[in-house]
Amino acid sequence: MRYDATLKSLGEFGLIDRIARCVTDGAGVALGIGDDAAAVAHSAGNLSLITTDMLVEGVHFDLSFCDPFSLGRKSLSVNLSDIAAMGGTPRHFLLSMAVPPSADLALLDDLIRGMMQRATEFGVSLIGGDTCSSPDRLVLSLTVLGEQLPEKIVRRSGAGPGDNICVTGTVGDSALGLKLLKNGERDDFLISRHLDPTPRVREGRALADACIPSAMIDLSDGLLADLQHILDSSSAGARLREADIPLSPHFLARFPAMDDEARTMALSGGEDYELLFTVPPIRMPDLFSLMQELGTPVAVIGSVTETNGLSVVDTDGNQLPLRKKGFNHFSES
Ligand code: ADP
Ligand code: MG
Repeated sequence: MRYDATLKSLGEFGLIDRIARCVTDGAGVALGIGDDAAAVAHSAGNLSLITTDMLVEGVHFDLSFCDPFSLGRKSLSVNLSDIAAMGGTPRHFLLSMAVPPSADLALLDDLIRGMMQRATEFGVSLIGGDTCSSPDRLVLSLTVLGEQLPEKIVRRSGAGPGDNICVTGTVGDSALGLKLLKNGERDDFLISRHLDPTPRVREGRALADACIPSAMIDLSDGLLADLQHILDSSSAGARLREADIPLSPHFLARFPAMDDEARTMALSGGEDYELLFTVPPIRMPDLFSLMQELGTPVAVIGSVTETNGLSVVDTDGNQLPLRKKGFNHFSES
């Protein structure tokens, strides 16, 4: 449906109403949108897991490359991925948005529809938020609430020497997808890996429930950068084997040989939203049977070392020179 209308004609409360009409209160919601605060219940004994992520037009997304429906889905997915990385179950979310008055209503409707579709798929419900105007750029900030038993929550800090470093799915697809989008090239798989990533909620929860990972993180900044976060929190180092880093057939079709560009995308490309985690050797059989049950590919790409520092070796055991580690706001390298 096309509207020849912008947000100006609706106003703040019109927009909130329009959003609220797309929402049905889910499980655990005692008070949803419409009061000064929401009220939700968790299962007995669980802790709340709370995460928030901000997406700024021109920094995180460009509406000339991404359609608003996918943007709505992705803005929720990236937050769901953070709950997945803690091993929790996402339940509720808040949506804060700063919107230019000239924003096209059809665009906002698509954005909300995409977000709500994602919410339904993962059983999370919108319980509130905030709405204000922005001079010229769209800003979205989502906060997701999840839950898990205290002893099952997986942190970044538990990796120990000798643990295997594992990753779900494949890496580098999102960075390559973005490059294709910018160049006006096509590859539906790679582009959808960038525009519409799938958060590994089921996997994160199942791994945590089985107490398999010693540490876990989701891949948002890039494999090396995110692994470094685990290593910093765990005061450890790591040695990765380049040959074991999982690449998709679509990625390999574009990079039959691992050249510099391919390596940079695989090791430092962001936004794959896969899970990166460490597993003590004794738990590897449990890991493999769980991932087989889930039907999710998992790759063992290296191991945690006692000495600090992160190295990547080729098949001959030679250390590869590492360049850029990943995306960092406010920094050039
Ligand atoms: P207050 O001024 O008390 O903060 P608001 O007028 O900002 O209240 O919000 C009214 C209700 O609408 C609240 O329940 C709030 O959580 C909800 N709300 C506001 N903006 C959004 C949004 N973008 N998405 C979902 N709920 C929203
Ligand atoms: Mg408010």
